[in-house]
Amino acid sequence: MEDVISEMFRIAVASGKGGTGKTCVASSLALMAGQAVAVDVDVEEPNLAILLGVDMKHHLDVTVPLPVINEDKCQKCGKCAEACRFGAMTIFGDKYPLVNSSLCNGCGTCSIVCPYSAITETERVVGELNYGEEGSLKILEGCLQVGVYNAIPIIEKTLNEAEKWDTTHVIDCSPGTSCPMVAAVGRADYVVLVTEPTPFGLADLALALTVVSDLGIPAGVVVNRADLSGGDLGPLCKKFGVDVIASLPFSRQVAKAYASGISPIKVDANWQEAMKKVLNRAEEALQ
Ligand code: SF4
Ligand code: SF4
Repeated sequence: MEDVISEMFRIAVASGKGGTGKTCVASSLALMAGQAVAVDVDVEEPNLAILLGVDMKHHLDVTVPLPVINEDKCQKCGKCAEACRFGAMTIFGDKYPLVNSSLCNGCGTCSIVCPYSAITETERVVGELNYGEEGSLKILEGCLQVGVYNAIPIIEKTLNEAEKWDTTHVIDCSPGTSCPMVAAVGRADYVVLVTEPTPFGLADLALALTVVSDLGIPAGVVVNRADLSGGDLGPLCKKFGVDVIASLPFSRQVAKAYASGISPIKVDANWQEAMKKVLNRAEEALQ
């Protein structure tokens, strides 16, 4: 595939809801971009590497600090539990404080407020970062450990690791509009919002556009399965001042390719044209 963009550039691919074809677009954009880093921060279920046909290898563990109470020093004053905004530190009766590791996000506040320096920290593994490459394409994948609820440390670590490469980054974000999506989109120079023209698609696109607009990041919309009926995107896009860059009709060929773990751009000329348009539009938005 040709190089469309040659400078450092972060394009986030997001969607207000799951199942719109976000990862199909992210994989296609990464392949079209040529020399690029594909960054999968949909950390609860990363699958970008599958569509890129790349075997991933463990790169590093992602850890967060976990407080440890030194009972020799602790005076059971309760300040640590009072200060913890995540309800991760509790004190029952006259016992020493207990840390709930699944609620703790490693913010370190408890050790700062402890007047007796009774709290030290150890490291807790919350996920891993995997790496793979295929030709000029590099792939980084953040993967949240089962049972861990806070995705932000993995997302931040994955995005930080990608910064090592001064090239185009295509970031596959978590679906929805909660903290994981905002953390990934917030780093982007341009956001591609993938949607489908249904009432649900429109409702979730409105939320995603609100987030992107509040962040002040230029954006464009790609409509997947554009021949579905039930929603007119025109008024919504007009309201937020964004364009529909490409509309991709349902394609049996694409559906079959997706089911086999093949990126749509490899099988459908419409997708090739659409991704070229998206990259060009993203580049224009930064000029
Ligand atoms: S703030 Fe320090 S001394 Fe007070 S209960 Fe917590 S660990 Fe113990
Ligand atoms: S590190 Fe932060 S979240 Fe964890 S127990 Fe301490 S204050 Fe609470």
